[in-house]
Amino acid sequence: MLDSDANPGQALEVLGKVFGYDSFRGDQSEIIDHVVAGGDALVLMPTGGGKSLCYQIPALVRPGVGVVVSPLIALMQDQVDALTALGIRAAFLNSTQDFETRREVEAAFLAGELDLLYLAPEALSGGSAMRLLERGRIALFAIDEAHCVSQWGHDFRPDYLALSVLHEKWPDVPRIALTATATTATRKEIATRLNLTGARLFVSSFDRPNIQYRIVPKAEPRKQLLDLLRREHAGDAGIVYCLSRASVEKTADFLVDNGIPALPYHAGLDARTRAGNQGRFLREDGLVMVATIAFGMGIDKPDVRFVAHLDLPKSVEGYYQETGRAGRDGQPSTAWLAYGLQDVVQQRKMIDTSEGDAAYRRGLAAHLDAMLALCETTECRRSQLLAYFGEQGDRCGNCDTCLEPPQSWDGTVPAQKLLSTVLRLQRERNQKFGAGQSIDILLGRKTDKVAQFRHDELSVFGIGTELQESEWRAVVRQLLAQGLLAVEGDYGTLVLTDGSSAVLGRQRQVMMRKEPERVRRSGGSGTAKKSATVAADLSGEAAELFEKLRAWRAATAKEQGVPAYVVFHDATLRQIATEAPGSLAALGTVSGVGENKLAKYGDQIIATIAG
Ligand code: ADP
Ligand code: ZN
Repeated sequence: MLDSDANPGQALEVLGKVFGYDSFRGDQSEIIDHVVAGGDALVLMPTGGGKSLCYQIPALVRPGVGVVVSPLIALMQDQVDALTALGIRAAFLNSTQDFETRREVEAAFLAGELDLLYLAPEALSGGSAMRLLERGRIALFAIDEAHCVSQWGHDFRPDYLALSVLHEKWPDVPRIALTATATTATRKEIATRLNLTGARLFVSSFDRPNIQYRIVPKAEPRKQLLDLLRREHAGDAGIVYCLSRASVEKTADFLVDNGIPALPYHAGLDARTRAGNQGRFLREDGLVMVATIAFGMGIDKPDVRFVAHLDLPKSVEGYYQETGRAGRDGQPSTAWLAYGLQDVVQQRKMIDTSEGDAAYRRGLAAHLDAMLALCETTECRRSQLLAYFGEQGDRCGNCDTCLEPPQSWDGTVPAQKLLSTVLRLQRERNQKFGAGQSIDILLGRKTDKVAQFRHDELSVFGIGTELQESEWRAVVRQLLAQGLLAVEGDYGTLVLTDGSSAVLGRQRQVMMRKEPERVRRSGGSGTAKKSATVAADLSGEAAELFEKLRAWRAATAKEQGVPAYVVFHDATLRQIATEAPGSLAALGTVSGVGENKLAKYGDQIIATIAG
């Protein structure tokens, strides 16, 4: 049953006046028209795709209050602040509020003085919020992070199951469920559990074209990171992921010692420190958060310019989710991963010693293999990522393999030499060693350990001098990635696999990835053609103005106690800096400057430009 009196031009008008944007992106327009007309929708869009507008605009266009169910209680205040800054009447109800505040919000809702009301899901399974909603007029229900209804996912919230009653109680109110989780299984589960099987399905591409994917061989990871930040991301906000708490602390200290403002975040810190650091990261400009993967769920800071991984993620899904936190605002951003032999050894060990049963461990191993394949590919990283999520893509032109195509080379002979060393140690000496010893043997190095075990008497001693140590490590890494070699035990000793014998028996050729020359010379830090820094390609004058505007924004945000991006996004400041508008009318045409912000900040901006 669709309303017929919806005015088709209205959504576009709201987009311009309220949000200051001039056109819809992707499916937004169709989704909004569908919901405005009273239809149910299930929306799958990647992070940064622009899901919020899909329910915010219909809530403004349709009579009544838009009710948004979101599990991210900690972020409700920021979301409401951002809407308030746009002149939208928004509020939230959750368990952190005192009685008085709740009463005020309820009164505003009943009086029809709200455009949007955010609720935690647990509020709806309790009876009082239901009774409140029954007494007001509702424009729509938006169910954000809808994958939380999936029991097989990582973010299951039992309270989400209760949301299926919305349809029974309010059959005429349109519902829109949104998620960035892509798999078909989750999608189906959302539709069934939320009673949305009749809803129209909108699936966007999961590509994030503004993110540049780069994976480099790990040499001195902290130095490589510092190099990246100094050369390409000076002054930018970003996230650095590390596997352990200890390396989070060490890396944060290292960055601070080198003049980069960085904060640690991991489960070992007390709740107050964690919340404090997260709050600073969201609010202040240009902070680097060094964190374990405990950090990030629901962080919708739009101007995260880079996500760096100092350790190998456990799966492609995890990698995609973590890197997806970069560049929600659509501006150029970097996803950078340093990966080395030790990562493989360590992760295999973690899998071997994990608690689950054999099937569980096989699952983990399959995830790791897919991740390794991504690291060692000579194909476009992005097309490989998208293929993993069932999408086709051509060479993207914005990943390291597209920008500086690695050569692939026939590594069969080195592979045989390496495998043969492992075989001899095992057969002739009944010994197992880690990669280092095999490489020393191949290079003919008379180390103490070589002397002690008389490995210089092996026939393979010194037969591998055509490659350098780093190249031998790459050979080992790629053999591991291709399953032609394996590691086991606490010391990461090398052992042969079923695949090894085909290589040793010359029945199988082994192609390997050769790192581009420049990457190798600069110690593996990578050399993208252009910096992703927001101010990077601005002219001298514009860059200067951009910095002035940024300082103004920081002061304004601080004064109002809101994150800097609530005042204006980077992209908006950038456009203002480039165009240097001389009048309020000209300023009003900049993307991201709506009527409310123009009235509130216009004069100050014009003064900043003039001054
Ligand atoms: P998601 O919730 O899907 O991760 P958001 O709704 O937060 O994404 O939107 C991501 C960013 O894109 C926000 O900064 C938002 O203001 C911006 N955005 C969304 N739609 C448009 C549009 N049509 N034009 C310009 N910017 C947009
Ligand atoms: Zn590519």
